[in-house]
Amino acid sequence: MKSQTKIYDVAIIGSGISGSSLACILAKKGLSVIIFEQNSHPRFAIGESMILESSEMMRSLAKFYDVPEINYYSSVKTATKTVNSYGVKKHFGFVLHQEGEVATDDDVLQAIIPDKPYGHEIHIFRQDSDYLLLQAAIKYGCEVHQKTTVEDITLQKNKVIIKTPKENFQAKFVVDGGNFGSIIRKNSTSTPKKCEPKPEDFLRI
Ligand SMILES: Cc1cc2nc3c(=O)[nH]c(=O)nc-3n(C[C@H](O)[C@H](O)[C@H](O)COP(=O)(O)OP(=O)(O)OC[C@H]3O[C@@H](n4cnc5c(N)ncnc54)[C@H](O)[C@@H]3O)c2cc1C
Repeated sequence: MKSQTKIYDVAIIGSGISGSSLACILAKKGLSVIIFEQNSHPRFAIGESMILESSEMMRSLAKFYDVPEINYYSSVKTATKTVNSYGVKKHFGFVLHQEGEVATDDDVLQAIIPDKPYGHEIHIFRQDSDYLLLQAAIKYGCEVHQKTTVEDITLQKNKVIIKTPKENFQAKFVVDGGNFGSIIRKNSTSTPKKCEPKPEDFLRI
């Protein structure tokens, strides 16, 4: 097995919206960042409806860390200027379903998403948003390995070994942005199967 000698500051597993946003922030700050993605972009991803908290989070991250790309999907106003495809979201509705009963007006909750101050929220096309954010990460200096599955990680005293089918990589910290495919949760030799992290795991995850 080939092993790289370079030790990256941070290795990120997964280039979804979270992995790539973090990569942008860290790379822009001057850290050496490497991302591993088992698929290749553009790729299908579920989860498109922005909500107040996620929009505000993206707005805040973009401003605080000076990474404007993270703000592109936070409202219609920013999306209009920057991306091609999105859906406008003006309300969020819920109906309480009781088995065997017809819903009444009292079972309905409709939240209006106002145009002010930031603009209506949006439905994003994750194949576009995630691709764009990964491109931004590359622009800020991040190294990306697509079609590269992280098979396992091993925590050592001052570094983490990241195992992929082709070669092993080393980093000071690893972030698992694999979501459903989380390697740390599934089968890391450093993490107990029940996913009960030890204090030293928290230092790098
Ligand atoms: C049915 C459903 C509906 C949803 N609807 C909404 C919604 O409306 N609004 C909302 O905000 N959220 C929604 N979500 C949640 C949303 O999908 C997630 O919160 C979001 O996708 C998380 O983004 P992420 O970047 O963390 O993970 P992901 O977008 O899943 O990205 C993880 C990436 O890691 C890669 N990866 C995984 N394992 C490895 C590995 N071992 N090596 C290399 N790469 C790896 C994957 O290929 C993937 O590209 C929904 C979820 C589901 C299931």
